[in-house]
Amino acid sequence: ALELALESVGYRYRGGHEAVAGVGLTMAPGIVGLLGPNGAGKSTLMRVLSTLAKPTSGRVLWRGEDIVRRPDALRGELGYLPQDFGVYEALSAREFLVFLAAVKGLPSPGVAARVDECLEMVGLDDVADRRLGGYSGGMRQRVGIAQALLNDPKLLIVDEPTVGLDPEERVRFRHLLAELAGERLVILSTHIVSDIEASASTLAVMSGGRLRFHGTPEALMAEA
Ligand code: ADP
Ligand code: ADP
Repeated sequence: ALELALESVGYRYRGGHEAVAGVGLTMAPGIVGLLGPNGAGKSTLMRVLSTLAKPTSGRVLWRGEDIVRRPDALRGELGYLPQDFGVYEALSAREFLVFLAAVKGLPSPGVAARVDECLEMVGLDDVADRRLGGYSGGMRQRVGIAQALLNDPKLLIVDEPTVGLDPEERVRFRHLLAELAGERLVILSTHIVSDIEASASTLAVMSGGRLRFHGTPEALMAEA
């Protein structure tokens, strides 16, 4: 099954406190909204889930396999958009994606076609040959999603994607993620509840490194 299972996951920075502590939950396809104030541990948890940081306690299982023991099993099926995603302003979107496909080690036959597909999925096909320096914040975030889709991931992790977007771009971004979530597990972190409550199938709410709630948006509202 396309399932990501967290078993009492903890992460402690060297010399620091536990930024994530005892988080246990299982995620299935759809959009999972990871909510919490700044400092709650969302980015740390996202880095653990995308194998950029190893949990200092507990386990994470992707399709039943431990992601620390078998990182390649997850990495081949993972798309990740970090919070600090930046673009090369001198390149066009198409050139930048071809470059990133090479960095990711995608086999070069088929890359041009795959780049075109990804540009189309995020609605940038019309402007693909314009320099990224002229792109708006929302367009840059769509380039970020396009690069995360290059390997046709089953797990898409997106960290605070709507920071710096205007309201119209936020709505557009939300629709895009909803389209992508069909057969994928999309994990989206945000501190803005309205970005996620309408589209998420499940919410996970963190504060102080701990999981405070996991369930449907309706269940969260009923609790409030
Ligand atoms: P969020 O993404 O929810 O804002 P973070 O995961 O960035 O939360 O941070 C969780 C906690 O871990 C905070 O107390 C933060 O200061 C701390 N932290 C984050 N990154 C580091 C780091 N590189 N070294 C030490 N502490 C860190
Ligand atoms: P976030 O929005 O994820 O909370 P932050 O502003 O907390 O981001 O962190 C930005 C960068 O600074 C990250 O790379 C994070 O790892 C690092 N960082 C955050 N808190 C600390 C800390 N207490 N000590 C060292 N590095 C930190």
